[in-house]
Amino acid sequence: MINIASPKEDIYKKSVESLIEEIERCDLLGIDDLVMHPGSYLDTTEEIGIKKIIDTLNDIFEKTHQLKARIALETTAGQGTNLGYKFEQLAEMIDGIENKERISVCMDTCHIFAAGYDIRDKKSYEKTIKQFDNIIGLSYLRAMHLNDSKMEFGKKRDRHEHLGEGYIGADAFKFIMQDERLNNIPKLLETPKERDGINMDKVNLALLRKFHKS
Ligand SMILES: [Zn+2]
Repeated sequence: MINIASPKEDIYKKSVESLIEEIERCDLLGIDDLVMHPGSYLDTTEEIGIKKIIDTLNDIFEKTHQLKARIALETTAGQGTNLGYKFEQLAEMIDGIENKERISVCMDTCHIFAAGYDIRDKKSYEKTIKQFDNIIGLSYLRAMHLNDSKMEFGKKRDRHEHLGEGYIGADAFKFIMQDERLNNIPKLLETPKERDGINMDKVNLALLRKFHKS
């Protein structure tokens, strides 16, 4: 597991090496954005963790300056010492990055919901998107992970559920699929793959497609 905020030297070194390899792989495959959780600060502090992430990314972008792939920092649920559960933290990281062309954000619906950003009704959905835009900027949003949540709102627990079957509910996914600002953003499912022998990706995808058309 990559953790570029880790105070443990061996894990940190391995994380940096793996991340560079991943960026090289993205370049070979023509992938624009590499999604990654920003990192966990463990026994240090939030501030030290954020600084370590910024310094490491600047260093990695410098080392891979001939490559184009961006790193998309994923919004997290805020479990344990994971960073990136507040839009302000992601904004601070982006702010510290010298080459802004190499940085972006991936919004995970389950994670932001767990972190206290509501999207269950139209009003709160609009508020959350507006907050994202004001604090981070929608121009940095390059990917979305669409997952419902097995956990209640604001619990800071990361447990994915099939769309419409969790505490977020189907409406949020309708708002997303009908939001023109998000039309060109790649959206990915990270929901459980199978249930009773049924390919659940097909079921979840069908729901998204229906919302997109209706
Ligand atoms: Zn995700």
